[in-house]
Amino acid sequence: MAPKNLEYLHKLPRTKKWKKNISNGQKALGDKHWSKKPEVREKFRLSHLGKKLTPFSEIHKQNMSKAKSGKNNPAWKGGVSSERRRIWVTVPYKNFRIEVFERDKWICQSCLKVGGTLEVHHIKSWKNFPNERLNVSNGITLCEDCHIIANRIQRKYEQP
Ligand SMILES: [Zn+2]
Repeated sequence: MAPKNLEYLHKLPRTKKWKKNISNGQKALGDKHWSKKPEVREKFRLSHLGKKLTPFSEIHKQNMSKAKSGKNNPAWKGGVSSERRRIWVTVPYKNFRIEVFERDKWICQSCLKVGGTLEVHHIKSWKNFPNERLNVSNGITLCEDCHIIANRIQRKYEQP
């Protein structure tokens, strides 16, 4: 459980002035910040070097050979991500995206933000509905943030 004073801190309203104070404080620190000190940087550098030079333990070696890539890996899911990437670069998929964007006037259909990074969300998921992947009426324009939320909600409600 978080200490009481931390809880209190999280409950404080984040006023503009307070935020400004924080950022000013960080700016004022500048090169005096501990991570900017040369001796600290050198320590970091050495500790990272040290990590690379440490010989692999036997257990680590066993784990590495178990963690085979691709189809030898028991966690292999049929190459979904590489398949997805392959389809994303095709002309039909690019056209599908543009059609969805144009229908939605390049506006996030959730928060109505214009511009920024827009993505096409598949209402019926990419994974479970392969036949709906290029169906414009299954696509909806969302901004990056809303897309993350939409995917989270989708995973929760759409059973594979
Ligand atoms: Zn949005």
